[in-house]
Amino acid sequence: MSAIYGGVETGGTWCVCALGTSPDDVRECVEFPTTTPAETLDRIASFFQSHPAPAALGIGAFGPLDADPASPTWGHVTTTPKPGWQHTAVAPVLHERLGVPVAFDTDVSAAAVAEHRWGAGRGLTSICYVTVGTGIGAGLVVDGRPVRGLVHPEAGHLRVPHDRARDPFAGVCPTHGDCWEGLASGVAIGQRWGVKAAELPGDHPAWELEAEYLALGVLAIVSVASPHRVVMGGGVMQQQSLLPMVRRRLRELVGGYLDTPLLGDRIDDYLVEPALGDRAGVLGGIALAERLLAG
Ligand code: ADP
Ligand code: ZN
Repeated sequence: MSAIYGGVETGGTWCVCALGTSPDDVRECVEFPTTTPAETLDRIASFFQSHPAPAALGIGAFGPLDADPASPTWGHVTTTPKPGWQHTAVAPVLHERLGVPVAFDTDVSAAAVAEHRWGAGRGLTSICYVTVGTGIGAGLVVDGRPVRGLVHPEAGHLRVPHDRARDPFAGVCPTHGDCWEGLASGVAIGQRWGVKAAELPGDHPAWELEAEYLALGVLAIVSVASPHRVVMGGGVMQQQSLLPMVRRRLRELVGGYLDTPLLGDRIDDYLVEPALGDRAGVLGGIALAERLLAG
């Protein structure tokens, strides 16, 4: 019998916990709102305590956070803007309550690991998973491992050219104003146009501007990290007219400079939709747990 793993996604608004081994074998799954740290961590621990203990637990959390196993504050959510959650021990508390090995990373890194393991990035050496939702985040997986460094990538806060004549909107990032997320997140779209992103029709001019910003951000990622594929998910990407426009604009921006058809006439195979949908985060927890035991 193969080991069963626990996956947790602590999102800004919802938490998801699951037990299983893969997307086709999720034995139990629950969702509840992310409230205070004490209440939320207790609900997570209680879920796992009411089932046979998993072999290991993997957590994908909103950040910024400390994912460095050598750090004294490993497993903490650190400078997050989410009220009440600054400098909260997440992984250490669950490790103590459950007594099993715990892997910890950002929610987007977890989703990237899952898309690489079972989804749109299967079989590739490296991928980038970008989510465009309430905010923007990106996880990079190289050789099956989520990329970490001094802290962890925060691609949502990279800077993209902002032509204020074309787009006078100041941006919504509380720290940077018009960073990538500040200009192109779902919240930014809603505030710029005074209509929720989900309610803007596919032929609204909002989408051409959105495609411009998304292509500029993806160009930066592609230029620095050169992932073998970029997977774009999140609520905003549900606008079906958007991905084709981002592809077209990215191809133009690359301008034929890089000698690969994947950034040219095969761009449809390069910039793709996720395969795991909403479940990528929690499945990423399961994949991180599996990786932890595999060493
Ligand atoms: P979160 O980032 O909080 O996990 P989502 O990925 O679901 O949540 O993203 C939420 C954002 O996606 C909101 O700004 C919402 O307006 C936008 N959104 C949801 N559905 C659509 C849609 N069909 N078209 C465009 N935007 C959408
Ligand atoms: Zn920012």
